[in-house]
Amino acid sequence: MQLDDHAEELASNLGVDKAEVKDDLESLLEYNVPVEEAKASIRRKHGGDSSSSASAPTAKSLADVTPEDGSVTATVRVLTKGTRSIRYQGEDQIIREGEFADDTGRISYTAWEEFDFEPGDSITVGNANVREWEGKPELNLGTNTTVATASEPVETPYDVGGDRDLIDLEPGDRGRAVEVVVQELDRRTIDGRDGETEILSGVVADETARLPLTDWDPHADIEEGASVRLEDVYVREYRGVPQVNVTEFSTVERLDREVSAPSTAPRMGIGEAVTSGGLFDVELVGNVIEVRDGSGLIERCPECGRVVQNGQCRAHGDVEGEDDLRVKAILDDGTGTVTAVLDTDLTAAVYGGDIEDAKQAARDAMDKEVVADEIRDRIVGREYRVRGSLSVDEYGANLDADEFAESADDPADRASELLAGVAR
Ligand SMILES: [Zn+2]
Repeated sequence: MQLDDHAEELASNLGVDKAEVKDDLESLLEYNVPVEEAKASIRRKHGGDSSSSASAPTAKSLADVTPEDGSVTATVRVLTKGTRSIRYQGEDQIIREGEFADDTGRISYTAWEEFDFEPGDSITVGNANVREWEGKPELNLGTNTTVATASEPVETPYDVGGDRDLIDLEPGDRGRAVEVVVQELDRRTIDGRDGETEILSGVVADETARLPLTDWDPHADIEEGASVRLEDVYVREYRGVPQVNVTEFSTVERLDREVSAPSTAPRMGIGEAVTSGGLFDVELVGNVIEVRDGSGLIERCPECGRVVQNGQCRAHGDVEGEDDLRVKAILDDGTGTVTAVLDTDLTAAVYGGDIEDAKQAARDAMDKEVVADEIRDRIVGREYRVRGSLSVDEYGANLDADEFAESADDPADRASELLAGVAR
């Protein structure tokens, strides 16, 4: 049917002027509202029955929902529900996000209106829009969507509720609940979307992992050393690793048990670590096979901290660089390689001198490279244990080192460990 035919049909059903109906229909379609939904909305405006059978979308199993479906009706179990405030077209809007499931699969949803459902509820969602998000269908619940209690509980193989171990959190997760111990915490002032805002930033841990945390609406119960249950948190990627985000909608509750967390980072093979993607805190052991260019005595842009080459910052052009020390060392354990990046202090420790010593050495030799050369002589060919945060992207795998120590392991033990790993 053409737009004109739809308008004709509506106008005669409702007994109103066709031109007016056509105008409304056109503007709704401009906003990508599916045609049946647009017609339903116009029927409502004129007091007509919006639940006309012509506008009812097909009921579908979740496994059959595709981004090509304009809108669907589905009977589902609510797995999770998270709340978040977003700025949409200049206005703050509270949205709910989470997952629905049935016996065929699960699907993410975003609700732009407040609907009466909670995790565990079995509901029929009528006329939800299907959108594509990162290649997968997602349901959007808006003004034209109806939510009704299902006549029978919906069976699903998926767990209801957002409880997860830290190791299982992934960027994009919404409405999650975790029980953690706060291991590190700082209060910081940031320049947010509403001016200067105070936030908490730290590290939380459970039996399975350590992850960075940001509390955008500081909660008094989040204190260093406290064991807490955090409900309705979301996860996003920050510097290559998952970050736990607490908001004004999250609840924070002190636990009367202590959450036990390992005091050391998990040790992994380099190949395995790189394959797993970003890891917040990990220990790798390998031989330094090369100290890369850009190591030793370097200059950084005073504005952004990027390394300055020939007095030029990539972002700020001509700048007066500030001296710094850095090492980019390639670590190899036979299963893979990673570039360990050492900060000023760790570099000073392996160099055996501070920035002033390095500048003196460079002046004496009339060559900055002597500093990197000295570091090469000291560490290439030796085995090190490196602990830090691993990020993996198109530029390769980088381990931002917090600890860098010559390995005290017996090489024979390590070799048998590796062989055992290969045999598994
Ligand atoms: Zn710069």
